[in-house]
Amino acid sequence: MATDNNHSPFQTRVGFLGNPNSADPFKFWRVVPWTDANLQRLKDLGFNTIQVNVAWGPRPNDEPLNLEDVVELPPDLAAQYPQVVPLNCDPSPERRQQRRADVRQRSEACHRLGLRTIFHFGAPYNNHMRYGDGPPNCISDDKVLRRYALMLESFARDFPEVDDILVYTYDQDAWLCSEFGPCPRCLGIPLHERLPHFLEGLATAWQGKRPVGRLWWEPWELSAGQVYACIPRLRPELFGLSVHANVAEVMATHPADRWLKNTASLAADHGLPVIVEYWLGGPCEEQEPLLHLSHPLVTLRGLKAIAAASGVTGIKEYYGLDPDREDPNLRMTGLFLANPAITEAQALEELARPYQAAEADMARFWQLTSHGMELFPWDVAWYVRQIGRSRVDHALSAARIRGMPCRTPSWCSTRATIFLRSYEYFTEDDPWLREDIELRCRMAAEAWGQALSLGEPILANVPEALRLSVERNLLDLGRLRRRALAYAYHFRETNLAQMLREYPEAPAPAHTRSVAELRQCLQADLENYTLEQQADLAAPGLGLLPLFVPAAPQPWQEADDALRLLDQDLPAFLETYLNIGPVNLVGGGPAQSAQDQKAGFIPLLASTAEKGLFSVSSR
Ligand SMILES: [Zn+2]
Repeated sequence: MATDNNHSPFQTRVGFLGNPNSADPFKFWRVVPWTDANLQRLKDLGFNTIQVNVAWGPRPNDEPLNLEDVVELPPDLAAQYPQVVPLNCDPSPERRQQRRADVRQRSEACHRLGLRTIFHFGAPYNNHMRYGDGPPNCISDDKVLRRYALMLESFARDFPEVDDILVYTYDQDAWLCSEFGPCPRCLGIPLHERLPHFLEGLATAWQGKRPVGRLWWEPWELSAGQVYACIPRLRPELFGLSVHANVAEVMATHPADRWLKNTASLAADHGLPVIVEYWLGGPCEEQEPLLHLSHPLVTLRGLKAIAAASGVTGIKEYYGLDPDREDPNLRMTGLFLANPAITEAQALEELARPYQAAEADMARFWQLTSHGMELFPWDVAWYVRQIGRSRVDHALSAARIRGMPCRTPSWCSTRATIFLRSYEYFTEDDPWLREDIELRCRMAAEAWGQALSLGEPILANVPEALRLSVERNLLDLGRLRRRALAYAYHFRETNLAQMLREYPEAPAPAHTRSVAELRQCLQADLENYTLEQQADLAAPGLGLLPLFVPAAPQPWQEADDALRLLDQDLPAFLETYLNIGPVNLVGGGPAQSAQDQKAGFIPLLASTAEKGLFSVSSR
């Protein structure tokens, strides 16, 4: 593949290896070995910089997430500047040595291949949101800043092949004092008046040891206003910004919102480079563990939208890549990096070429899969990105849309410009909101259904070397489609039950119609579940994830019972099923485990046993 990036709108192009598991701490879905061959593949795709750790909240395979995971101060300094918060990494000396060896080996390999390197960490380490608005490690405490400066100097000495650092100040187990919180140093002082000073301390320490190095700051979890206010306070010779593709998250179908454009433009005016984080391959947090999906037009359109934002100087993979297997989204990224002016038609043609006899059909398949992605309501709430872990045999309590019970400036403010439900609040969903999600889920499922019906007959024409990849793609697409349908049915059932409950004396045509549709919906739900089970049982040998392999078909007893009761006794049905439940159940769900608390961002729905993202499950 051509890799002439002279005309790339992105001077910095950052990749890294691995597909982390966001729900289960310390796990990967797929470990991708840090071999020279894999790094060279990234370079061939157009990447010129590598993040040398898989810095992902649940710490897959105990990858380093904080400086403390790879650096220890000498005993005298450690006594003078103690870290009072217990660490979240495996604290054994063997594991520390291994983490250190990994960072060294990876950064040395990158330099051998002519790639720049970045180490990514969260600071100040406060064990995520465990301490709320007034955590122990306070950025206004000079001793905390001194400790981090000393640790960075040690890090620079110990890892001479690391060029730049990328620092989160919220998340990645970092957390900040709120100006409205209990910290006596920070109370009443806005974040933009405290944070740049702390960051400058880190950046100065880093550049003291690495004169051509840079601190890329990720203003994650800050409100739009706070980010804008911080930018002019960052010295351009020390800093760059690394930012999510919109103010709320990295989302395939929602890149480059008003916030990103303003942030990049303000940064450019001030001389700061800006890297934007996006999904550059197929596997991603929005659909994991469905790792075999492809919708390369979404990738191309996202890259073009980000590149068009004035002031953006780089692009970065957000989740982790596997270049050693067929990934149409990742190949599309490579095509764009090689030729940013490439049209959609040219790109599809080039992308499909290896599929030979199936070339035209694959191009059409990707148009449909991309269309489905763009119709699906990824903007309903953060938790919709757990659709891959949701169950088709959903709970039969009412469908509910969950906000995020995580108090940060962004969750409590600007994120609501992207997510229909952002911070957790205790109101009932409006039926029109449920209908909106239902309709968009149905339309996405329709497009994906067309892609599936196109994909299955063409499998025979796909060259053998690519066939398994297409088979897996079809299998995962079927799963995604059935989950979208399960959401649609569940929302419609909830609305129908609410109407029947609110207007029990409605005249016959309306009443009969609603009961009949409710029955149809439940039957469609049961059929969808049967198809899910058949698909799982019929697809052995495709490297399935354990989550999807049932030992034998299991009846969906609750739905069978519900249908029976609907026929026999409507009032009893409405009393038993599709009920909202008491308000105190909102945000309830299963008990929060210690591991879930640690993961922080998935505090209520980490379990794969959970029955549907939108529902408060009784199981
Ligand atoms: Zn403080």
